Amino acid sequence: MRHWKEECGVVGIAGTDCAAELVSLALYALQHRGQEGSGIVSFEDGALKAHRGLGLVSDVYTADALAGLDGTIAVGHNRYSTTGSCSAENLQPIVAHSRGSAIALSHNGNLVNALELRNSLEDQGAIFQTTMDSEVIVHMMARSRQHAFEDRVREALGRVVGAYSVILSDGQKLVGARDPRGFRPLCIGRLGDAHILASESCALDLIGADYLREVEPGELVVIEGSRIWSIPPVEKVDPKHCIFEYIYFSRPDSVVFGHAVDPVRRRLGQTLAEEHPADADLVIAVPDSSNSAALGFAERSKIPFEIGLIRNHYVGRTFIQPTPRLRDLRVKIKYNAVKDVLNGKRVVVVDDSIVRGTTMKKLVKMLKKAGASEVHLRISSPPIQHPCYYGIDTPTRNELLAATHTIEEIRRYLEVEDVEYLSRESLLRAAPQGLGYCTACFDGEYSIPVEGEHTKEILERNPV
Ligand code: SF4
Repeated sequence: MRHWKEECGVVGIAGTDCAAELVSLALYALQHRGQEGSGIVSFEDGALKAHRGLGLVSDVYTADALAGLDGTIAVGHNRYSTTGSCSAENLQPIVAHSRGSAIALSHNGNLVNALELRNSLEDQGAIFQTTMDSEVIVHMMARSRQHAFEDRVREALGRVVGAYSVILSDGQKLVGARDPRGFRPLCIGRLGDAHILASESCALDLIGADYLREVEPGELVVIEGSRIWSIPPVEKVDPKHCIFEYIYFSRPDSVVFGHAVDPVRRRLGQTLAEEHPADADLVIAVPDSSNSAALGFAERSKIPFEIGLIRNHYVGRTFIQPTPRLRDLRVKIKYNAVKDVLNGKRVVVVDDSIVRGTTMKKLVKMLKKAGASEVHLRISSPPIQHPCYYGIDTPTRNELLAATHTIEEIRRYLEVEDVEYLSRESLLRAAPQGLGYCTACFDGEYSIPVEGEHTKEILERNPV
């Protein structure tokens, strides 16, 4: 998958003297979920300290910056946003001051009624600091008449509709919550007396914390000191976990929605090999996100797995784009083909998805130039035909290759021998059972309707 941007990574820690330091380390593990900016807010005796910056985690947190973030509670966020719209003012955690106390909020997801709520709040005189949909949550908390922090959070979340995994703190308590459908992941870990909330369990592994469990859809978890308790959902609705977390977004070494990602991805590859076998000499992955699926395909098809493409890991997402004259070099900056592996071989290329198809077209050209005699493309997800309104930055529908082309047209455009996608039925069979999934980008069945073209455009372009 190229050109479909990740969402955001959130983390919160309470109950340790080095909360901000641990949050910064956890953010390294969640770097894949957002690479355009990062922020941490810490609390010490109710006083709030914040540090945010554009760039990778390694660029944002210097030793000096971390030294200023003392306290026993910290909330962190890695942001992805569309290039150009990521300004320093839109970095999270969001901070607000109300009734003598400060609030910090980190959000992963998209609120589909944020525009409506924002318009209504602005009509009542509210002044917004950012253009982020998440800010409506803190505005509604400020208006709540509830006394306890967690009750104000719950009341505010009761008014928003959409996808959210949020972490909030007022300096006394750390609160984590997921929307009733549970689109985005959020898990709980423990390190000594401290508790951690994080988008994925790979963040817990890095700091040596134990994975306890997922925050359930609609659940609100409250941590105070070394105590943790749960406020169950007011009403249960059918869960809609984002199935793309298993296909692409999450790291393969994570546990997401209660299941390890790598075995799921391998099953997708195995199922793909059963559904769409290929007559070929070797199987290669488009690294790194397709590695597990390609291994599954190779294992089931009994075709050897080889490393035929090398990815340059030192190219950041915001690398300087070549001039139009050198545009064709853009893919070469990131990938190179291994000629000795590919020369004269019939190759199965496994990728997790195709969005616009422009990168894949260049990769195929690269593989053929390196000597591949045939390229059989296998995609470990169904064709993406609809945009996501629940927290993923997708192109508009007419930019999605599979929304505007038949499979045969895609084959001709990519100049491959054949191209086959995993069917929606096989995807749902290979994914962990009993969870309930969102598959809207494949079938257009949006569980939360999105009204109005303007709102759709904002949701497509401004995930957090
Ligand atoms: S539309 Fe696709 S990417 Fe968006 S939440 Fe649903 S499954 Fe995930």
